[in-house]
Amino acid sequence: MKNIVILGSTGSIGRNALEVISKFQERFRVVGLAAGKNISLLAEQIKKFQPKVVAVSDEKAYRDLKSEIQNTKYKIQNLPEMLSGTDGICAVASMLQADIILSSIVGSAGLLPTIAAIRAGKTIALANKETLVTAGEMVMSMAEKHNAHILPVDSEHSALFQCLEKQTKDNIKKLILTASGGPFINMTAEDLNNVSPREALNHPNWSMGRKITIDSATLMNKGLEVIEAYHLFNMPVEKIDVLIHPQSIIHSIVEFKDGSYLAQLSMPDMKAPIAYALSYPERLANVIEPINWEEISGLTFKKPDTKTFPCLSFAYDAIEAGGTMPAVLNASNEIAVAAFLGGVIGFSDIPVIIKKVMDVHKLQPADDINTILEADGWARRKTQEELNK
Ligand code: MG
Repeated sequence: MKNIVILGSTGSIGRNALEVISKFQERFRVVGLAAGKNISLLAEQIKKFQPKVVAVSDEKAYRDLKSEIQNTKYKIQNLPEMLSGTDGICAVASMLQADIILSSIVGSAGLLPTIAAIRAGKTIALANKETLVTAGEMVMSMAEKHNAHILPVDSEHSALFQCLEKQTKDNIKKLILTASGGPFINMTAEDLNNVSPREALNHPNWSMGRKITIDSATLMNKGLEVIEAYHLFNMPVEKIDVLIHPQSIIHSIVEFKDGSYLAQLSMPDMKAPIAYALSYPERLANVIEPINWEEISGLTFKKPDTKTFPCLSFAYDAIEAGGTMPAVLNASNEIAVAAFLGGVIGFSDIPVIIKKVMDVHKLQPADDINTILEADGWARRKTQEELNK
């Protein structure tokens, strides 16, 4: 039996993970949950999974949840220990009984709890890409020091992780991250000026949270994943390529020096990489629907167009610059995406604003968490300033 903590239990990854866990109750027990504001769903999850500890980041939501779960309608026998704020979430992330921490809080809010789990030497199923994007070097060396294992949940990195098993680094020529390209992949720069948040949220293959769906449409998601792969697999960035593959059946590819390739394929369903990270090194039976090969009309590929979708090249620029630049890229993107979703800016303004912020950032070495958080805060303020202009 593995004891699981889910950070971000009411989000898309968290809900999928709980589905996997309810299907395999003889293997997994939920001991801790952490969430932001969706109190009614969190209360349902507490009733169903009976965790020992629950943390809520928002103080008001924490008080609301406390009164909510005392409500007789839930009939909760053993009320969990309740914590609040970042400290509370970090406490759940490092709780003694936990074997695996699923880190799936969206954005840089997931950074400190993931670090807390690493310091506690936990196995971390990592869905929060910002942890590696903003603090990759620090986090990876910290994981080594504390003997904390990081297992990727992001579907592309899970694919690479599976293809790379038992392979030595000198055999690898390239890591090829596939990208669906999102809903706008065949549009011109001009078309993109007029797309609405509703159109951008309509992802052709994957059902995901709002922020990542927009990132998928701008190709920023793929850029963040390049940075993630760079740290996770300790590969030079010139050995990491991106390939548009609109069907999202091949989740990523490893090219070997002898001209052979290994790829991982499945239907696009996040339950597959989540289950693999939770059950690793074992595989669970019938986690998702099998591929119906006869129904796939074709698997196609094309080169990403970084002129029309410059966010992808910003990520390469950020790795090149190093230090605090990836944190700035990430934070500026979060604010710009929120502004787009709020109708404040257009889709094409997202890369323009991020570029402006990156261009004026004074680079610092990213060797301690405070420097990274300061750069993150600076980028948020600077992006807001640009938005107010
Ligand atoms: Mg992904």
